[in-house]
Parts: sequence; structure tokens; C-alpha cells
Amino acid sequence: MLQIPENIPVVEIHDDRLRRKNSRLHILREDLIHPEISGNKWRKLRYNLEEAKQQGHDTMLTFGGAYSNHIAATAAAGHQLGFKTIGIIRGEEALPLNPTLKLAAGYGMQLNYCSREKYREKHTVSFREELKENYGDFYLIPEGGSNHLAVKGCVEILDNINADYDLLCCACGTGATAAGLIAASKAEFLGFPALKNGGFLNDEITTLLDAFEQAEKLTLTPKPWKLQLDYHLGGYAKINRQLVDFVREFHTLHQVPLDLIYTGKMLYGIFNLLQYTAELDNRSILVIHTGGLQGNKGFEERLGVVL
Ligand SMILES: *Cc1c(COP(=O)(O)O)cnc(C)c1O
Repeated sequence: MLQIPENIPVVEIHDDRLRRKNSRLHILREDLIHPEISGNKWRKLRYNLEEAKQQGHDTMLTFGGAYSNHIAATAAAGHQLGFKTIGIIRGEEALPLNPTLKLAAGYGMQLNYCSREKYREKHTVSFREELKENYGDFYLIPEGGSNHLAVKGCVEILDNINADYDLLCCACGTGATAAGLIAASKAEFLGFPALKNGGFLNDEITTLLDAFEQAEKLTLTPKPWKLQLDYHLGGYAKINRQLVDFVREFHTLHQVPLDLIYTGKMLYGIFNLLQYTAELDNRSILVIHTGGLQGNKGFEERLGVVL
């Protein structure tokens, strides 16, 4: 089983922009779970790897883009638990490998590239059969690692949180982490999709919650939750100058590094809402730092800055 450290720190952010609104903000440093691997990806893989072992598999196959935190995490987790890993990477091979794929290859992941058109068919039966023909037997982990076992792993994020927060926040990609936090149901939840038109995630989260309830034979009574759709900054992995400046300033002021794709956009959003709306006034907020810092190396190389 993948190990989760026992005392994951919660740090309070002291900042005038919060004080002015009579709000408090703490960050749960899930990014510290593993030096290279995204906090939530570790959580999402945990029960999937256990299931793979129980089913007698020795190989895991999954999908992702060239900068995917999930690809990096699957490679590292597979290496740690003695699985062979195969990554089906969207798009053409580009050499030299970027830092994410270099890390994955270093952990022994076999990288196979797949055209963008073909990649879109990864959910079809015919594509899966072709994969079985090419790679033999494997345990398939969906893109982003998201299924009901991922939700189960993410419920545990709140295991050691006892203080009374009235709002939880996290960044959303597939919605599995959000579903886990909503299922754990300690406070209201506000999610920040990292992609454009993230409204579809309302359905995804509901579907994941249903699947989790069924698999675990539970009936949940979630607290109110919603998504704030305005902080994708142009789309998935799209960045701009304000975001880069915000992330660098936040690191300097508060000694908490953020990634540009997920946690940076979420905190940018939170401080923006504090500045321009009353939505986050008088609240005690717990933000989940889901990690993603392995991706910063690639951005730093491309942008020529230190994040
Ligand atoms: C993948 C990822 C997310 C999104 O998680 P989902 O469960 O897919 O919504 C958020 N933050 C970071 C850093 C990630 O790598």
C-alpha cells in the first residue's frame, strides 16, 4: 500500500487581503506527501493499486498528456510497489523528454505515443482490445486516475482535520478529488475547475459520488457544494503574466510553492474573489494543496523564470 505521511502540515496564511475581509485561510500541504508526486494523485492511486494487486496484475496501464501529474505519479507509485507501468501519451514524441516524462521514464514507465485523434477513442472497446493485443494483460487506470476507488482515497484527505472550517476549496480536473472532499462532508465546498467550460464537472462529480456510494454501500448527506467556473484563465494549462506573478509572489510572501495549472489558479481565484466580491468574507477556509509541483520544472524551463 502506498504510504501517506502521518502529520501533513496545515499552515495559516497571514495576509492583509484576508484580514480586511475578516476571513482566515489555511492550506493543507498535501503537496508534501511525496517529493515529486502530486498529493492527490497519490491518494487517487492508493486503492487502485491495492485492487490491481488483489486481481493479480503485475502491470498498470494509463493515459495522459506530456506534462501529466498523473503519468508521473503512476510511474513513481508503480516503481515503489513493484508494478510494470505503461503510459499512453497523447501526441507525438518530442526529444529530449520533458521533465515530467523524464521522471516517468526514470521510474521505468514504458512510454507509448498516440495521435490526438486516436487518444480521443481511448474509452472505446476496440481501442482497449488493441491495447490488450499490444501489451498483454494489465490493470487499466483511467485518465487522471479517477474512479470510485480514487474517491475513496480522497475521502481520507480530511481524516486528520479536526478544526472547524466552514469552507473547503480545491482545484478540479476530473472532479474525483472534489467528490472525495464532498463525501467526507465536513463543510461547504467550493471547487475551481482548471479547464474552460468546467460546468460539466457538476455532472461528473455527481456521477463519481453515486459510484462511490454504490461501491461502498453508503448513503451520503453532503453539505452544499458548487464550482466557481471563472478562473481557468483561458483553458487547461493556459497561463498568463498575472498568474505567473501571483504564484511567484505567493511563494515569496508565504513560503508555499504553487503549481500553475491547478493550485495557482485556485488561489488566484480565491484572492480575486476576496478583492472584488463579498463571497468569501467572514469565512474560515481550508484549501487543499493538491501538489502538481513536478510540473513547475517544465514551465520554468519554458518561461525562463523561477516559480
Ligand atoms: C490532477 C490534479 C488536480 C485535479 O484532480 P481531479 O481529481 O482530477 O479533479 C488538482 N490539482 C493537482 C495539482 C492535480 O495534479
